[in-house]
Amino acid sequence: MAEYTAPLRDMRFTLEHIADLAGVSALSAFAHVDADSVFSILEENARFMEDLVAPLNRVGDLQGSVRNDDGTVTTPEGFADAYKAYVDAGWGAVSFPPEYGGGGFPWLMSIAMQEILTSANMAFSMCPLLNQGAIDMLLHHASEEHRETYLPKMVTGEWTGTMNLTEPQAGSDVGALATRAVPQDDGTYRITGTKIFISYGEHDMSENIIHLVLARTPSAPPGTKGISCFIVPKYLLDADGHPGERNDVSCVSIEHKMGIKASPTCVLSYGDAGAGAVGFLIGEENAGMRYMFTMMNNARLSVGLEGLSLSERAFQMARGYARERKQGRAPGAPAGEQSAIIEHPDVRRMLLTMQSSIEALRGVVYLNAAAIDHANHGSSDVDREAAAELADLLTPVSKGWGTDLGVELTSLAIQVYGGMGYIEETGVAQHFRDARIAPIYEGTNGIQAMDLVGRKLPMRAGGAITDYLARIEALDDELAAAGDDLASIRTNLASALSSLRSATDWLLANGMANPLDALAGATPYLRLFSVVTGGWVMARQALAARRALTGAAPADMAFYEDKAGSARFFCEQLLPQVIGLVPAITATNRDLAAARF
Ligand SMILES: Cc1cc2nc3c(=O)[nH]c(=O)nc-3n(C[C@H](O)[C@H](O)[C@H](O)COP(=O)(O)OP(=O)(O)OC[C@H]3O[C@@H](n4cnc5c(N)ncnc54)[C@H](O)[C@@H]3O)c2cc1C
Repeated sequence: MAEYTAPLRDMRFTLEHIADLAGVSALSAFAHVDADSVFSILEENARFMEDLVAPLNRVGDLQGSVRNDDGTVTTPEGFADAYKAYVDAGWGAVSFPPEYGGGGFPWLMSIAMQEILTSANMAFSMCPLLNQGAIDMLLHHASEEHRETYLPKMVTGEWTGTMNLTEPQAGSDVGALATRAVPQDDGTYRITGTKIFISYGEHDMSENIIHLVLARTPSAPPGTKGISCFIVPKYLLDADGHPGERNDVSCVSIEHKMGIKASPTCVLSYGDAGAGAVGFLIGEENAGMRYMFTMMNNARLSVGLEGLSLSERAFQMARGYARERKQGRAPGAPAGEQSAIIEHPDVRRMLLTMQSSIEALRGVVYLNAAAIDHANHGSSDVDREAAAELADLLTPVSKGWGTDLGVELTSLAIQVYGGMGYIEETGVAQHFRDARIAPIYEGTNGIQAMDLVGRKLPMRAGGAITDYLARIEALDDELAAAGDDLASIRTNLASALSSLRSATDWLLANGMANPLDALAGATPYLRLFSVVTGGWVMARQALAARRALTGAAPADMAFYEDKAGSARFFCEQLLPQVIGLVPAITATNRDLAAARF
């Protein structure tokens, strides 16, 4: 089975020309960061992931994680050792603040590293991913004492974090959760209840597991306004801060899943043995949901990235297979000889659909990460607010479109393989199975679409989206100046943008009066918005490639020509498809409401 090679050159192109790494590095928080150090770290990271983590992807799928009779969980062969090497190399710490042992690098860089990690092995990547979410929550909202107690070990990855939201009756509707937290005289809380689907809720890769648990105090108001967030360590810490007594949280079972089999998805029971697990309140009571929102952009972006990473790995496999597999004779090929399937126009269509969609998605995801960096570290309030708005708009695109594409493109990779794609030994089916969860967790894609239409479009009474559309339109002058070369890209972007604008105007005008109509059109709107954003990224790619071609060394010409070609394919062939979504966006809720299921 083909392994994975990090697409460092493509990543560098996107970092430089789409996400403006130079602009991010120029922020005062990143004074120590220069492009060369970013790229040399990425190279080293790629070597580590390719050599140590990617080869475990298959074994992880075959063996899965296993719960033992004593409630412990054993991860697949090689996982614990690879994780230790990951911790020793300091990979988990790169983007966290130096005061807790991190490297203080931009989020943009972390996202590029996460792309490589997740392509190498998505099930493995879930452990650092959940830890990252927990660290983010503590950084923003925990007391100084809690930060000092937990963060240094979590930043290195010696301890891993989990996010405990879901309960059987509380999935998308987090406000329905019932886990209880009862305050004690010593200031701690006793947590009782059951959480389901907790990724890496129990495992054998770290010394301690720091669960962040959403629960209700006895006096909490109903719904999301009554949710508090608690730190519940698997092992309580002794006087020296080392893992000591076992807390009352246990893994009662793990799920048998369609994909990411190596990632243990646990049912966790709190308080089985007595009065409850010991928990420590983060921030204030009843503010848990607000806290979750502040870290949502990062977490959703990382999940969107899973779609990108799996598509990239599946694409590499499909391209490799198509070069080798001989079948049929392509028009013009010598008589009597079979051609490699990569010669057939339809196979090339599938591969270029994958390649150009991956490039567009990488641009969106990296741009989103750069916006988060500017939102956190911009030099003025105005810059920070503008960047936060951009990140807010792009997050449902990265998460929703990214994960939908993850499923579509990994499926296309199977199609390139033909029957062998459906056979497990080739390994390509694993990526499709692994990808299928991403549109579901971290807010289903239906919820992402509702977020875009219900929360993001009304930002600044429609001002944020108006500015965003104007930003895309502003590229038109540059495209016009490029002349015939980019004429088709210019026309197609303008026409898709005009459809997005009319759909947006319709939603803004009707959404308040008829929220059901707006919600009925939310998912096709998210797709239209996303693909137009992808078209914008690809138009910028074409412009950047054109600039780079002037004076490029002969050895580099093919790379930039391919970038331009891929951008043209996206804008001419994929972008126009979404114009047809406008009727679905503006159709109203009439037929959905009337349907008798
Ligand atoms: C492998 C895996 C790992 C996970 N890891 C974690 C974890 O680490 N921590 C954690 O807390 N949780 C985790 N989850 C849980 C995950 O976040 C939830 O499954 C997800 O939020 C959806 O909730 P649900 O399964 O209850 O589906 P439901 O909420 O029941 O949704 C079912 C369908 O109804 C739709 N729907 C629901 N409400 C609405 C609405 N208001 N409007 C429109 N449509 C709606 C949804 O879009 C979906 O299509 C994980 C789940 C899995 C499978």
